[in-house]
Amino acid sequence: MKLLEHLANGSATDTTGTALSRQHFLRLAGRSVAAGFAGSLAASCRTNRNPATASGVYSTAGGASVPKLPATSPPANVPDKPEDPVKLEAWKAKTERESGPTPTPMAPDQRVGYALVGLGHLTLEELLPAFGECKKSRVVALVSGNPDKMRKVARQYGIKETSLYSYDTYDQLKNNPEVQVIYIILPNGMHAEYTIRGAQAGKHILCEKPMANTPQECQAMIDACQKANRKLMVAYRIQYEPNNRMIREIIQSKRFGQTKFVEAFNVQNSANPDHWRHKKALAGGGALPDIGLYCLNTVRYLLGEEPTEVFAYQHSTPGDARFREVEEMVSWQMRFPSGIVANCGTHYGVHETRRYRVMAERGWMGLDPAFAYNGLQPEVSYAEGKIEHKEQPKQAEKNQFAAEMDHFSDCILNDKQPFTPGEEGLQDHKIMAAIYQSARDGRPVKLTAVTKKDAFRGPLPEMQ
Ligand code: NAD
Repeated sequence: MKLLEHLANGSATDTTGTALSRQHFLRLAGRSVAAGFAGSLAASCRTNRNPATASGVYSTAGGASVPKLPATSPPANVPDKPEDPVKLEAWKAKTERESGPTPTPMAPDQRVGYALVGLGHLTLEELLPAFGECKKSRVVALVSGNPDKMRKVARQYGIKETSLYSYDTYDQLKNNPEVQVIYIILPNGMHAEYTIRGAQAGKHILCEKPMANTPQECQAMIDACQKANRKLMVAYRIQYEPNNRMIREIIQSKRFGQTKFVEAFNVQNSANPDHWRHKKALAGGGALPDIGLYCLNTVRYLLGEEPTEVFAYQHSTPGDARFREVEEMVSWQMRFPSGIVANCGTHYGVHETRRYRVMAERGWMGLDPAFAYNGLQPEVSYAEGKIEHKEQPKQAEKNQFAAEMDHFSDCILNDKQPFTPGEEGLQDHKIMAAIYQSARDGRPVKLTAVTKKDAFRGPLPEMQ
């Protein structure tokens, strides 16, 4: 119990007062949670207001005196089931925003184990910290070409020395039973090879977006995972994010009537012509597969429809060293079966803007900013008599990476199909290929008509 109280205070020491490593702490915390459920928590509801000690004065060995107050436990509902949250005594007025339920993480040794491949910006800045917010996922292995960086990161996150691999020893992951998922966070052009080798090593694959460089590579990845009977998911974090989910529900419930028009932009200024994002073989393309993909994939997710036709322009500033191999800008339109037209754009040469707006008969809704890791801001507007309403109905912030990893872990633990499987990534690549073709040929390009809603997605996940 003492250990868990330390967690609440944001620090952890063992009973001798020694600082605990993150891994040691999680192991102990997991054991103490398990022991708690087996033992004294048999009673599902417990109230203890009896003072544990009398009040008075606490005198230290050094002669200082501080107040000594009776320690009590206010009413708490402690359900037997690990997945049901502990409910604590309320203290805020009903007029204030509710806090979420207390977290219900699985014991560490029951969570799905991940090997992270590639220790670049996304892994170090976002994914490794996100495991701290996961309930069903934990990081157990790393793969990198830089042993010094890998050893340092492994120490920071309590990963065993014996679970560190180079690209040469990657296939030996098959002998590590703690690893159930390989998460591919490499340059796009390497996703196909490492997914296929990972599936052959008997592991489930979570692959960063864009899924690969071409539809053919995507198909080979799907086939390899099917052959190995392993699950494959593309890490489309936006599809696991509550504000985007809320906008999708407003659109699909037709609260403001039929949607007619969409605009979506994701632009930023890149640097360093030598970076892999500016090399065709490693990146597959420029702004489109890297950040324009968010516009494409999010619009498809919001509408649940697939485009039947695209029309595009592409441009790169002549002489700009960044754009010798990949494009600077793509602007494109997509036509959907219901008549909706989406106007999208992506750019590597202008200051960061990420937003979308969906226009329906009686109102509009969108996010500005959209697509960012945090700070997403929904906006909804509609008229009522003489009043023009403009609302900002923001959902509580959740870590998008933790949500997507826990979704994949849930699919593995309960043998479910991921919401964003390989087929979802393949469809984006088919559309991107048509966008490039349209820009090259200067005319609209038709796509195979798909009538089924959410045709390439698994069952809609419950929002945690
Ligand atoms: P990064 O350049 O910071 O990291 C890439 C890693 O791959 C590095 O550790 C590098 O050492 C390793 N690597 C191995 N072989 C390499 C090679 N030949 N050239 C260059 N690097 C090589 O990139 P990043 O921003 O972390 O992106 C990695 C992947 O994650 C990309 O597919 C990217 O599209 C994706 N990504 C997704 C999101 C998201 O929000 N889902 C955000 C950023 C990046």
